[in-house]
Amino acid sequence: MKPGSTLLVTFDGLRRDRATADLMPNLAAFMAAGTDFINARSMFPSETRVCVTSTFTGCAPADHGLVANTFHHPALAGRPVNTGQVDDLMHVTAAGPLLHAVPLGDRLAAAGKSMVVVSTASTGSTHLMNPHAAANGHEVFSCHQTNDRDAAIDRDARALLGPVPPMTTPNDARITHAGRVVTEIVWPSRDPDLCVLWLNDPDLTEHAFGVTAPETEAAQRHTDAVFGDILAWWRRGKGPENLIVMSDHGQITGSALASPAADLAGGWEGRLSPGVFNGLWLDDPSPAAVARMVDRLTEMPWCGLVFTGRGADAAVGTLPMGLTAQGHALAPDIAFTLRSTGPDHGRDAAEQSRYFADYIAVGGGIHGGLNRGELSTVLAGAGPRFQAATVSDTPCWLPDIAPTILHLLGLPAHGMRGRALTEAFGEAPPTVTHTVHTVEHRGFVQHLARWEVGGRGIVDEGWTEGTGAWG
Ligand SMILES: [Zn+2]
Repeated sequence: MKPGSTLLVTFDGLRRDRATADLMPNLAAFMAAGTDFINARSMFPSETRVCVTSTFTGCAPADHGLVANTFHHPALAGRPVNTGQVDDLMHVTAAGPLLHAVPLGDRLAAAGKSMVVVSTASTGSTHLMNPHAAANGHEVFSCHQTNDRDAAIDRDARALLGPVPPMTTPNDARITHAGRVVTEIVWPSRDPDLCVLWLNDPDLTEHAFGVTAPETEAAQRHTDAVFGDILAWWRRGKGPENLIVMSDHGQITGSALASPAADLAGGWEGRLSPGVFNGLWLDDPSPAAVARMVDRLTEMPWCGLVFTGRGADAAVGTLPMGLTAQGHALAPDIAFTLRSTGPDHGRDAAEQSRYFADYIAVGGGIHGGLNRGELSTVLAGAGPRFQAATVSDTPCWLPDIAPTILHLLGLPAHGMRGRALTEAFGEAPPTVTHTVHTVEHRGFVQHLARWEVGGRGIVDEGWTEGTGAWG
């Protein structure tokens, strides 16, 4: 065990209020016994690769430039980059930097620290956890690529555990396999400063069956059982000093299909990347053209929050991208979410639902927007420096995780947007204020609630009221 070492376990897509003692007893007990960050939040857009990149750079999309799961990039003409596919990420990398912020893995390598990634996530997500792993001398065990690769960690895993089992929904066998790689290979023979274990359930099963479906609850129980084995191993002192658990975003119910590409066809030139989060790159991004498109968008029944401007200023009837830390030069000219469909404008946690554009069937789980159910994440830690049985209500988000890991290793987090969550170590928490930003345009009202935590902005939630009052 190395001083300051950490195992970071991610439960993809686990909404905080679904991490219950009934469904996930080991996780719930761990969270209660350590420092539990009850106001932890995801990113905007609340999409996995945005979340991965924000977690492993300590920065937001405005800094690192991975502005959505799929987005138009100058390196790929004619179609958006699919960040879930490592091949697409390699196309972007060949044309210029993939990321515009320094990854955590690079910082650790520069300090002579080791990092291992063990992942059941997509090839793109796994790559983004430590994009320069090979150059850094760090190992990556990906359940997607392992059986035909011949890296040392793959050989060791095959020799001890056999081949990686097939992917299923729920992904029980692979998740068990990944957990065993951590406890039976990574620590006994690598003893790293940081290991990341990324479990792609319950996200995978939520998308397929729904947030509260029996299949999803079974996936939660299985991931919790795997975590229980890890917890028992960690408590025996076999692993790292610190254990941190997180989720990258939550999910809510997809209730109605929207077709922004069809409904917006004609009358404009440019590119659309549709989803719960939508990006519009206009050939003519003049203020008049943006205003025309905003008027058109906000009369659509499925239109949610609309962002423009990449900075502090925005077109009439839209919120500035700067409020969500999404305004990178690669960001779209207009970003918009699909509307919530639940009661109370989608603010009721138990009933959260929304329009969706693709990928799932009605009733399946979805994410990407600004509903609290999408943004509300799990974050808790335990170890020698963490306060025990402590609830921290200081708001925090994914970019705070890397600075906290660096802090535990005695390393600085210069240039990161996030901050080390030192209130978990007994220090005074920063000052927090909460503000709701509202814009109204012809009867369509958009709200964005946001914290300032020691001068750093974190989005709490967003919602809309009314419809565009036209005619
Ligand atoms: Zn995810």
